Amino acid sequence: MSVKLKSDNPSVVLQKVGEITFEDRPVPKITKPNYVKIAITNTGLCGSDVHYYETGSCGSFKVEKPMVLGHESSGIIVEVGSDVKTLKAGDRVACEPGIPSRLSHEYKSGNYNLCPEMAFAATPPYDGTLCRYYLLPEDYCVKLPDHVSLEEGALVEPLSVAVHANRLIDVKYGDTMIVFGAGPIGLLTAGVASAFGCNKVLIVDIVQEKLDFAIQNKLATHTFNSKNKSFEQLSSHIKSIWGENNYPTCGADATGNKFCTNMCIRSLAKKGRFVQVGMSGDNVDMFPISSVMERELTVKGSFRYSVDDYKYAVQLLNDKKINVEPLITHRFKFEEAIEAYEFSKLGKSIKIMIEGPKL
Ligand SMILES: [Zn+2]
Repeated sequence: MSVKLKSDNPSVVLQKVGEITFEDRPVPKITKPNYVKIAITNTGLCGSDVHYYETGSCGSFKVEKPMVLGHESSGIIVEVGSDVKTLKAGDRVACEPGIPSRLSHEYKSGNYNLCPEMAFAATPPYDGTLCRYYLLPEDYCVKLPDHVSLEEGALVEPLSVAVHANRLIDVKYGDTMIVFGAGPIGLLTAGVASAFGCNKVLIVDIVQEKLDFAIQNKLATHTFNSKNKSFEQLSSHIKSIWGENNYPTCGADATGNKFCTNMCIRSLAKKGRFVQVGMSGDNVDMFPISSVMERELTVKGSFRYSVDDYKYAVQLLNDKKINVEPLITHRFKFEEAIEAYEFSKLGKSIKIMIEGPKL
């Protein structure tokens, strides 16, 4: 598919808290030989974008000057630098939106997501992908197989977060999983656990529709609505699924809520592995440290994604190991991007997809 180059670069810019406008930014030029120029076709709206819009910050990052939003994108290559070998104009790609320093120790040790000089889309001060044209190094684009849509390509970003979390605690055939939180990341973390071979995946949330969604779309095998429920009630539910003296071997918290982290860790089998995916406050009381000690649990933190996660995510889509399309509950045109952000505040959507500017 070839795309005609245009001379404008309409962009969705967060000016300050609560104010998003459209701006025509300069068309970026390829200045490094290993870079490609992508015409963005789809961008998923993420919790972090909405957070910047509503509060001006997310975690330790603060918006100090106007910033283009968006980081969950796919697109079509329109131009390649002179050293690019694996991509050509017309290729459809998923865009990995964070470029580390290739000189950092974190990069060299295979943990580039932790690079202190990471330039990540729509994380201050770096502009995001909700625009017509975006530049990336060749190796931060993953080509989409013909039968994987560009919309699915945009969902590779949150899917990679889920792949990273599962890989961090080495989820594999024979494991079983409990996931707290049935938002996009929790749903995908459960779905990837299923794809990686867990035959029992229990997802926990307080919203019944989200739990039903997880079952209908085969992202989890069991659910628990934890609204007004005690840990003892969760435990007896686990016993009814896992059987006497059997417990989940793996757990993930995708809520950032201290009660969830606490219950998730306390639900695990001896030698179990837990991963924190949801963003939380700096200090959390209620950390069940005696469970960690007495059961020799492994507790890990997970931040974005790193080497091969994007590749594996595309492979899961290619092999139809996970169906991400149903997560897209609402679609907006590029010109309706501001409405999309307003709509997301209502909390009625799972994933909102915004089209790129007309090709
Ligand atoms: Zn995101």
